[in-house]
Amino acid sequence: MIEKSYLTQRFAKLKLGAYHVIGYSMAGEETVVQVPELNVTFDVGRAPQFCLSSDYLCVGHGHMDHLAGLAYYLSQKNFQGMKPGTVLLPEDLVPHVEKLLAAWRQIERQHTPYEIVPMVGGRLHELRRDFGIRAIDTHHVSGSIGYSLISIREKLKPEYFGRPAEELAQLKAAGEQIQYRLEVPLVTYLGDTGFGPVFEHPDVINAETLLVECTFFESDHIQRAKAGKHLHVEQLVRVLPRLNCKNIILLHVSRRTGIKRAKHILRKLAHEETLANVHFLMDFEKSKDGGEMEAAGEGS
Ligand SMILES: [Zn+2]
Ligand SMILES: [Zn+2]
Repeated sequence: MIEKSYLTQRFAKLKLGAYHVIGYSMAGEETVVQVPELNVTFDVGRAPQFCLSSDYLCVGHGHMDHLAGLAYYLSQKNFQGMKPGTVLLPEDLVPHVEKLLAAWRQIERQHTPYEIVPMVGGRLHELRRDFGIRAIDTHHVSGSIGYSLISIREKLKPEYFGRPAEELAQLKAAGEQIQYRLEVPLVTYLGDTGFGPVFEHPDVINAETLLVECTFFESDHIQRAKAGKHLHVEQLVRVLPRLNCKNIILLHVSRRTGIKRAKHILRKLAHEETLANVHFLMDFEKSKDGGEMEAAGEGS
């Protein structure tokens, strides 16, 4: 008799407002987070199946646990007849990644189509008139960046309120600037980052949904957080009251601590009301309690 079982990896799926957040994030192991409705995946981890449906991949830095699956993501999209992937990448990584993909072209003996968009902090890559992706400098490795998905709206200036539509159309035709541009950060993903000015960036403070790492929770891990340029929970709790975000999702928790203990420590450090909108991506326990989490399926 053969004893048979399957080893599976669980991915998380949260529904927060209008968007789902699907992903996996464990420090040093793998980080990949998708917002399917916005056609974007942040970092690619080992390129799990679900991320193929995103046409835009935003890579924050070059560590293997965030980038390993890049060539596979592009190749699989091509193999499955999907739209070629567009990869937003820190500018200084572009020549190295191009070399990596050139090597894969030789190894696979096929030409996988893709587009690379070099990004630096502050640059806005507009995909449509009403939507763009902005890079934000983070504090991890040299050139590391986070990303904000920006809804771009044209709004009528208050001084024109109440004027008839016909008059407004005439003014517009005459070249008068009757509208102003409003940028709304829908989702901001910080990738790996230590503490620093990024937490004062308006796209971070005002993001509707903020995806932020918090790797270390133990009080004797403060130096470890500093050395690895990661966030420690004691820094996070100082930042939380300043954020206007509707939802905050914590990523990249160290396996050494684990989600259960991380939740326990966080609850001891911050007020209950401050934590009302704070979720752990990898909190599968909450799904059993009937929370908003659900298992997003299994993969290898
Ligand atoms: Zn990492
Ligand atoms: Zn890293």
